[in-house]
Amino acid sequence: MTRIEAGSIIGILGGGQLGRMLAVTAAQLGYKCHIYDPAPQPPAGDVSAYVTTAGYADLVASRAFADAVDVITYEFENVPVDAVEALAKLKPVAPSAKALQVAQDRYMEKCFALEHGGSTAPFVTVNDHDELVAACHTLGTPAILKTRRMGYDGKGQVRLNEQTDVADAWLAIGKHPAILEGVVNFECEISVIIARGYDGKMCVYGPVQNVHKNAILESSVVPSTVNKATADHAILMAQNLATALDHVGVLTVEMFVCDGKPIFNEIAPRVHNSGHWTIEGAVTSQFENHIRAICGLPLGNTDPRGTVFMQNIIGDAYHDRHKLLADPKAHVHLYGKTEVRPGRKMGHVTWVK
Ligand code: AMP
Repeated sequence: MTRIEAGSIIGILGGGQLGRMLAVTAAQLGYKCHIYDPAPQPPAGDVSAYVTTAGYADLVASRAFADAVDVITYEFENVPVDAVEALAKLKPVAPSAKALQVAQDRYMEKCFALEHGGSTAPFVTVNDHDELVAACHTLGTPAILKTRRMGYDGKGQVRLNEQTDVADAWLAIGKHPAILEGVVNFECEISVIIARGYDGKMCVYGPVQNVHKNAILESSVVPSTVNKATADHAILMAQNLATALDHVGVLTVEMFVCDGKPIFNEIAPRVHNSGHWTIEGAVTSQFENHIRAICGLPLGNTDPRGTVFMQNIIGDAYHDRHKLLADPKAHVHLYGKTEVRPGRKMGHVTWVK
């Protein structure tokens, strides 16, 4: 079995806040991190021993990166799959390129969920304007048009209702291959976060109850308000998907709850914003369990330490950070980003009661 001992170097593809929190935790367990990111001065670089600034297709830089590290993981799910496959020939990579491939394509991930016992909102693939017109007839409105690839935090999405001009909607998503998805009138949104080791052992957080605003996560609370049957069903769905992927590391499954039933929305083969509450709110954080899993260490206890509320600090809310810092019960995390932009995640804050 793979075991990466303390003192080793963990390579992380992507250098955003998720990489930053992974690197802080890795240091606590005695590891050093090496960040690989195309953008200079990534947030994770501030807290890591080494940084490579190069494109994912740069073969020389990626080979040198692989030579310099002992295990490779990713914190960004739009890393090109072929780059990850090439790295996997040189060093252990967890989670696998397969998990990335499924998660990068909204159509593939929904088909994958259906194949493994999950249910989804109705969806249809759309490749051009005429197919969008046909899809609107098939599914009706309201519906959401989502690009198959490269969409996150509401990017590449547009809502359609009876009044929407279909040509405008198609233009709005850049005419990229897409899916049209029926709107789910959900009672709430939840996520289940799983960590799975090389030996197939799993530990579970959640369900976490999430609130999104403008398609961006605003807040998470644990425990959720869903009943035990719904929670068990959601956890089983997430476990089935983790097993089917032979996943190693953290896997997050986002779901809608409709008539008490969990409906699959999407997966992220990585630590997730809806798991930030675990840093102070669980015995072992999602970041620590990800590091433990990819290094072949035993997984830690996921029990919550109470009722936990996590709120993101998004865009201009950053300017109010001193109010949060003055709250003696608030655990404030700032990601070291200097430029504030609308919708940009600048930090988060957690309260444990
Ligand atoms: P996504 O990028 O697919 O995770 O969508 C972001 C957010 O938009 C979700 O968390 C929901 O709040 C909302 N959303 C996405 N798809 C649907 C849907 N089919 N029905 C209702 N709300 C949705």
